Amino acid sequence: MRKIDVIIIGAGASGLMCAIEAGKRGRSVVVLEHNMEVGKKIRISGGGRCNFTNIHTEFQNYLSSNPHFFKSALSCFTPHDFCQMVEQYSVPYHEKKLGQLFCDDSAQSIIDLLLNECDKYNVEIFCDSKINNVINSASFTIKTNHEEFQCESLVIASGGLSIPSLGASNFGYRIANQFGLNIIETRPGLVPMMWDAKNKMLFEDLAGVSVDVEVRHKKTYFRENILFTHKGLSGPAILQISSYCESGDTISINLLPNHNFNEIFEKNKRNRVYLKHILFKYLPRRLVHALIDNKLIANKFFVSYNQKEIQKLSKFLHGWEVPFQLTEGYDKAEVTVGGVDTNELSSKTMESRKVEGLYFIGEVVDVTGHLGGFNFQWAWASGFAAGQSV
Ligand SMILES: Cc1cc2nc3c(=O)[nH]c(=O)nc-3n(C[C@H](O)[C@H](O)[C@H](O)COP(=O)(O)OP(=O)(O)OC[C@H]3O[C@@H](n4cnc5c(N)ncnc54)[C@H](O)[C@@H]3O)c2cc1C
Repeated sequence: MRKIDVIIIGAGASGLMCAIEAGKRGRSVVVLEHNMEVGKKIRISGGGRCNFTNIHTEFQNYLSSNPHFFKSALSCFTPHDFCQMVEQYSVPYHEKKLGQLFCDDSAQSIIDLLLNECDKYNVEIFCDSKINNVINSASFTIKTNHEEFQCESLVIASGGLSIPSLGASNFGYRIANQFGLNIIETRPGLVPMMWDAKNKMLFEDLAGVSVDVEVRHKKTYFRENILFTHKGLSGPAILQISSYCESGDTISINLLPNHNFNEIFEKNKRNRVYLKHILFKYLPRRLVHALIDNKLIANKFFVSYNQKEIQKLSKFLHGWEVPFQLTEGYDKAEVTVGGVDTNELSSKTMESRKVEGLYFIGEVVDVTGHLGGFNFQWAWASGFAAGQSV
């Protein structure tokens, strides 16, 4: 049996960052990864260019049952800190929009950077490692298909449930269960929404139509595009709001976020022109036709609407209520909402309060970022925090 200071399970974003930091402190570190290669999610992230952080990272970009938990880690390792690493390795990058930083070339440069740093600090990484069991007595014993290890600190960095084909597993939650840690119920986040049967019939022909809207769920709202798909709605505004929604909720879509329909009406009320011709100025024609054909709005001459009808139109166009029932699930979700209960962990070190030496970092923890580089920033920051303590 090999004795190691720190074993990290999962060679993704958070695990590799933690390994680097622990290695820098002179700890002997082994990373165990069940895939044949490291960082599969990093490689495909950001359309292959990895949106590795967001320079406008704020606490309000994160969801958790405990909205204070992530503050300490995010303050100790900032987007600027990760950019410094990226610059040290001369990885060219750019801001795409809204503070989102992407590699100019390929996400592989982020993986190379992390592997180089691991190498520098003598971190050993074993791929194709299947963990058979984890036993805790005075230290942790980890049996894999290849070897048996004993370690003082065990870090669970096995990620969430999204995209099983990339190696996502429920390993982290199983370990949390094994050691009696509470788990906040998980669900897919940053995920496309699927229509119910009735709405699918009404809107599937709109696939490909994109509209700049404001999408709202209770007090949370996002002002970005939605995209009609064959199955439902996607696009950044839907992905963002999906992390806040549970099945059975309703979302409200403001189709005219830049305008006031009452003012549009006042300007045009004397015109003998159909409503649709006015709406064509503001919305894609296919969408206007679908709303009319499906009797969600009535298409008449502007002059012929009475006040009540105008109020009804305005209410619809500024707050189309859409049932949020189904999503495309973990196969298409970018993240997992929920996870290891943050009340079980130290916010400074990510160590379990119940089990000394056991750490949880990254997406397996009940911390979820918005779309736009915030999830990697959490992975780096939580990995960094644990790396100072293991
Ligand atoms: C398609 C897609 C695109 C994304 N794009 C972005 C983006 O551009 N920007 C952004 O901020 N976020 C993005 N994300 C989210 C981001 O990838 C994750 O939040 C982040 O990778 C989480 O890091 P992690 O270390 O917790 O988990 P991961 O990076 O998922 O790493 C977990 C590792 O653990 C391994 N593992 C799992 N189970 C076991 C086991 N039993 N034994 C051993 N190893 C195991 C996995 O194979 C994996 O290598 C994207 C996600 C997806 C799915």
